[in-house]
Amino acid sequence: MSRAPRVRFAPSPTGYLHVGGARTALYNWLFARHLGGVFVLRIEDTDLDRSEARHEEALIEDLQWLGLEWDEGPGVEGPHAPYRQSERLGIYREHTERLQAEGKAYRCFCTAEQLEAERVAAAAEHRAQVYSGRCRGLAEAESARRAAAGEPFAVRLRIPDHPLRFHDLVRGEVEFPNETVSDPILVRSSGMPVYNYVVTVDDALMEITHVIRGDDHISNTPKQVAIYEAFGWKLPEFAHLSTILGSDREKLSKRHGATAVGSFREMGILPEALVNYLALLGWGAEGGTREIFSLRELTREFRLERVTASPAVFDWEKLHWLNRHYLKQAEPARVEELAWPHFAGVELLPGFDTANSETKAWFAKLLALFLPAVSQLDELPKKAGFVFGFDLKAARANAENAAVLASESAQKVLAAFAAKVRAHGDAGGGPVTPEQFRAWMNEVKAETGAKGKDLFHPVRIALTGSHSGPEFDRLIPIFEEGSRLPLPAHVTSVRERVERFLAG
Ligand code: GLU
Repeated sequence: MSRAPRVRFAPSPTGYLHVGGARTALYNWLFARHLGGVFVLRIEDTDLDRSEARHEEALIEDLQWLGLEWDEGPGVEGPHAPYRQSERLGIYREHTERLQAEGKAYRCFCTAEQLEAERVAAAAEHRAQVYSGRCRGLAEAESARRAAAGEPFAVRLRIPDHPLRFHDLVRGEVEFPNETVSDPILVRSSGMPVYNYVVTVDDALMEITHVIRGDDHISNTPKQVAIYEAFGWKLPEFAHLSTILGSDREKLSKRHGATAVGSFREMGILPEALVNYLALLGWGAEGGTREIFSLRELTREFRLERVTASPAVFDWEKLHWLNRHYLKQAEPARVEELAWPHFAGVELLPGFDTANSETKAWFAKLLALFLPAVSQLDELPKKAGFVFGFDLKAARANAENAAVLASESAQKVLAAFAAKVRAHGDAGGGPVTPEQFRAWMNEVKAETGAKGKDLFHPVRIALTGSHSGPEFDRLIPIFEEGSRLPLPAHVTSVRERVERFLAG
């Protein structure tokens, strides 16, 4: 049997982890886990101007949140440490010297102006813009003399004069004519090695067997292939994952809404929902239409051969559908903890005492009632806000509410209902129960002749500010119990609600 695969996720810490990167990480992880291989995390931070430690930290947090732990990488280390490219510069330098000594790379003294002039000339003649090769033939003695004299130089790879080919597990055989590549720069005149170079050195030294990444890197691959060849290293298998598009079939971007993993977390998308969703963005299980997969099930089912080459379209509806599914499945205590900050964030309940078991139980009831109405947790405050109070004027002004309240019957219903609530309260009747509420509604119906909507809508508007909402049987206890608890934001009883509405 061939040896276990080794794959890597190699993000540049220049920004947040987005959907595309997260999918790449997930597919690498699944591929490794399915085959009992090794998943490496490598931080590609050679772009010193754009790389930031806070992005690396956020990235690591996001991967952990998704549940994609790595076998080698920052914080774990391993036989190929260090796993941060900025800590590997000595390794790249040694390799550059080796290529130069073997005549496979050469110093290029062309100035930025010369290269720019070449670019302009090529553009004017509608030629592909490739390096002219001016320094390719410099004699070694001459090249060494100029370098010793302090003239700045970049290091370029001598591209072989045959087409550059590689096998891609998603696209099959891929070939680039060598003239489209020209002699790529390996090390800039600043001394910093470039992405295509370091990624290849690292993939080879880290014994990566499968390079799985976004197809934005496909045009880089022939350069990397040439570098493998120059060192005499065996090529890995490649798998370039299709682009992710927005609903308008343009490349997914901020215009389409949230794309950063951290934003999904903040919105109250569960990690298992996002993982499941990302898995389906370009992959499908064998012969099935099944769409719900836990990470463990994905690990069992995942095959690179089932990854499609056609672009995947990001579908919020499906993500929401999955999130609703996982919110339903999740342990209530976990959802309560996740939901809580969403209420605190809008200052509905600042300083809610989560240690108080009664308030906790009440919040659990509130959540159980409203959770089925949301696709992501940050929608909760809007749905449940009226429990903590609502704007009377706005409720009365709402056109549909106003139409209900304008009728004579509505006024009669409200008066009859209020009379019952008052009598009950004045007689020390205690909290209003759902049974009590139902009995009153039957009495109001008999007294006023109103039924259905005419009966229920006015009462609902008075109690909640809206003519539609969750069932009264579950809402009444939330009002009544909430009004008796030491909650930071006052939840009013049925009586207080009716009085306030009639007075307003
Ligand atoms: N560091 C590269 C990026 O973030 C990925 C390199 C690779 O996967 O080959 O786009």
